[in-house]
Amino acid sequence: MNGDTVVTRFAPSPTGFMHIGGVRTALFAYLFARKHGGTFILRIEDTDKAREVAGSIEHIQESLRWIGIDWDFGPEMHGPFGSTIQSQRLSIYKTYAEKLIAKGLAYPDPYTQEQVDAFRKKAEEEKRPFLFRDHRPEQFEAWDGTKPLRLKAPFIKRYTWTDAVRGTLEAGEEAVDDIILIKADGYPTYNFAHIVDDAEMGVTHIMRGDEFISSLPKFLSIYDALGIPYPVFVTLPPILRDDRTKKLGKRDGAKDILSYRAEGYLPQTMMNFLALIGWNPGTEQEILSQSELIELFSIDHIQKGGGAFNDEKLDWMNKQYLEKLSSDVFLSYVTPTFEKYFAVHNKEVLVRTLPVLRERIHTLTDLEHQLKEGEYDYLEKTPLYDVSLLKWKKDESYKDALPRLLKVHELLTEASFESLETIKESIWQYAEEVGRGEVLWPLRTALTGRERSPDPFSCAYSIGREETLKRIENACAKIEG
Ligand code: GLU
Repeated sequence: MNGDTVVTRFAPSPTGFMHIGGVRTALFAYLFARKHGGTFILRIEDTDKAREVAGSIEHIQESLRWIGIDWDFGPEMHGPFGSTIQSQRLSIYKTYAEKLIAKGLAYPDPYTQEQVDAFRKKAEEEKRPFLFRDHRPEQFEAWDGTKPLRLKAPFIKRYTWTDAVRGTLEAGEEAVDDIILIKADGYPTYNFAHIVDDAEMGVTHIMRGDEFISSLPKFLSIYDALGIPYPVFVTLPPILRDDRTKKLGKRDGAKDILSYRAEGYLPQTMMNFLALIGWNPGTEQEILSQSELIELFSIDHIQKGGGAFNDEKLDWMNKQYLEKLSSDVFLSYVTPTFEKYFAVHNKEVLVRTLPVLRERIHTLTDLEHQLKEGEYDYLEKTPLYDVSLLKWKKDESYKDALPRLLKVHELLTEASFESLETIKESIWQYAEEVGRGEVLWPLRTALTGRERSPDPFSCAYSIGREETLKRIENACAKIEG
């Protein structure tokens, strides 16, 4: 990794499932690295053992792989810098800690938890901020690893730094304190470990959420103490609820990214959709492939303000991507959901239903809903319905449908069932003459027996000529009583 190359990382803590915000952060870091032919690292920040959730590391990797993000170094691919799992790098943090001790810039915390709590309580009572450095001992003891190791923070009146998205930011001296670097359990804190790792791994650009802005002065004090140059800080905008009133919370959809997979969102949809939350390509183009995203991605077009998570847009986008799928892929996409509702005896029927499904569904949730409502029962079952359903709203009686059904029967006997279009063409002229509703309503009822279902051409195309004619004959027989 030479000095000119871009190196980014995504550094999740394995504390549960991956949600939208995490994946968006990973995506921006990934796109930026790929755009510049750089390196993208997946680092696991597992230094808070109490918060760790079993299986998270696998879940994180599965989620990223699913949406199409790959990495150069990760839990299974160590780099020249060693492991990417923090719990396997403890000796490295220790070496850095010892360097600080040698420089007189770190010291073991001499107090018990009760004493620290008492300091805090007193500060609260006196209505002043609690700062550990106000209690910094005169003399530092030797560090034996059993006490937390703290940074000896500098007294600097104002911290000023540059964020590639937010511009110049600043904070007063109260933002910096003698924070813990290594805990009493031997694990480093996030504050310390991520800085050591970013330096060791040659990270040039840090992309992360705005919840870290307030900690930046503390981070800077650690960089300064270690003599490490600052990387480029890139603060990503928060993801807001659709109504923009609040940050997206667990309840509003900041859910497990893999649940989107289960609902039938395509990975390419998710990548495209997430890329556009807080970034834009500088044009109105909304459908962007992975390679277009990589080519167009730039920090300049990351916005400062929050980006909204719009469910309708996500559904719209998924439909765009479903339309691009080949028939084979689309067939395998819908088949398992169909099979939950009925045994698909004849695959051909399903293949001929694909065009109408492409029009009617955005996700598998839509399909599931329509199946549950019985909207595709006509594919497998002879429809059962009351004869009165054959009555078009403008007709006097259901009996008015009889001559039209007979005519349609005649037309369809001659028609080509080659495609949906040829079926439509064979009836269309007649329907225009007599009235669309007058012809198509009883036809659709004859085929499906339902008020809600796909259009009659699609139904006829799916079930084929023989079955179509049979169902029209049944309807005529019903009318004739
Ligand atoms: N482990 C931190 C988190 O999961 C990473 C923050 C960072 O990217 O520096 O929030």
